[in-house]
Amino acid sequence: MYTELGLFIGGKWTNGANRKSEPVINPANEKPLADLPHASKGDLDEAVEAAKKGFEVWRKTSAWDRGRVMRKAADLMRERVDAIGKILTQEQGKTLAEAKGEVLAAADVIEWMGEEGKRAYGRIIPSRLPGTRQMVMQEPVGICAAFTPWNFPAITPARKIAGALGAGCSLILKASEETPGTAVEMARAFADAGLPAGVLNLVFGIPGEISEHLIAKPEIRKISFTGSIPVGKHLVKLAADTMKRVTMELGGHSPVIVFDDVDPEKTADAAAAGKYRNAGQVCVSPTRFYVQENSYNKFAARFTEKAKGLKLGDGLDKDTRMGPLANARRLDAMNAIVADCQSRGGKLATGGKRHGNQGYFFEPTVVTDLPDDSKIMTQEPFGPVAPIIPFKTFDEVVARANSLPFGLAAYAFTNNAKQAAAIGDALEAGMVGVNTYAISMAETPFGGIKESGYGHEGSIEGLEAYMTKKYIAQA
Ligand code: NAD
Repeated sequence: MYTELGLFIGGKWTNGANRKSEPVINPANEKPLADLPHASKGDLDEAVEAAKKGFEVWRKTSAWDRGRVMRKAADLMRERVDAIGKILTQEQGKTLAEAKGEVLAAADVIEWMGEEGKRAYGRIIPSRLPGTRQMVMQEPVGICAAFTPWNFPAITPARKIAGALGAGCSLILKASEETPGTAVEMARAFADAGLPAGVLNLVFGIPGEISEHLIAKPEIRKISFTGSIPVGKHLVKLAADTMKRVTMELGGHSPVIVFDDVDPEKTADAAAAGKYRNAGQVCVSPTRFYVQENSYNKFAARFTEKAKGLKLGDGLDKDTRMGPLANARRLDAMNAIVADCQSRGGKLATGGKRHGNQGYFFEPTVVTDLPDDSKIMTQEPFGPVAPIIPFKTFDEVVARANSLPFGLAAYAFTNNAKQAAAIGDALEAGMVGVNTYAISMAETPFGGIKESGYGHEGSIEGLEAYMTKKYIAQA
């Protein structure tokens, strides 16, 4: 019911042959799903050679023909959504509905970038001299390497694959060892769609060893990473030695500001749905709820009621509304956050502990009455714990929202048009949702500021991230 795992190098699947391996665990029952082979250094070197050959073929393939292959791969993922969704749920834990939605969103990103590659326009700059041309050309940056985490096993690899391939680059992807099956299925869809050998290569192993080996290669001209801030900083330092281009999609801690001119209960319904999606393991998850004092009690009560009503279970069960956390590390992190809340006088409105003793389930949790310097108000929770605290004025809440080193996403809810414009301008984040949590689409730029990283994925910015500009003066 799961899938056969392997490395995909130079258009061929490899497995076994005395390679090291590790088990992939289903977080809903802690049982092994399959064994994942690790790439040796020789495999990685082979992947670089394959990517060189792949780049030579793909850069010369017209954007129209590249777009055709990418569209076909996207369509195959759509046709296979039931099967890929089940694989994703088994390895990651999220509900099947969320998993299928993610696979379809990933297909959209791939189709969109395949289209957008046709519009990688340059420009002509009027010349000072007659008979001369001044041209700015866009070219693919070259061979790229990407490293993706376990919380979105389809959409995060898709953003990197789509940007690179849409621009005419080849890619070596190291997807998460904890959720490899989805990436394997995506590579299969590309192979079945007719992608030339070596354009997309997929490897797994010890993350630190693979990134160090690949990033040292001068042939690789760009890296893209999604994950935690400390690992991002480490990879940027490695990339500096060969002056590689870098895209960093790192952690956040998104404030949600609820002004008291909106319906607090309707706003709480949407907030709880956003917060507990993927059990809170989302980099743009709404994570710090600041509610204006007149609405505070109603909002907190309704949010808590919604949290209490969520049915936990295996993501494959159709009644499940929230699955397990993706790994045991998240359970430890949630326990530490709740202990810190309690030691600082925070009140547990609901939840606060592990659910059951098999599978990495943690209760949907709401905490109130917390100081701004508590752990959950200052560190990315990456789990189903929601702090709700009151505020009085616009200026006060903006200062509190902007006080952290993160700047990925931020949200605000108000019915006052002037206030909506003002809060959109005031929040320090790469993405701001005013009266919405829908901030991530194939056609819109996704990326952070401050320590949440730099560069974008999705939209035209996500294609340009894989292109260089060349100026040609022709006399
Ligand atoms: P982690 O920081 O060790 O790993 C995060 C991701 O980076 C994993 O996918 C891991 O495989 C990868 N990684 C780790 N070291 C690497 C290296 N040297 N080279 C290349 N890849 C490397 O820890 P974790 O327990 O997996 O996650 C902890 C925190 O990371 C979370 O609490 C969250 O804040 C953050 N995170 C963010 C995202 C995101 O979407 N931005 C995704 C996953 C995790």
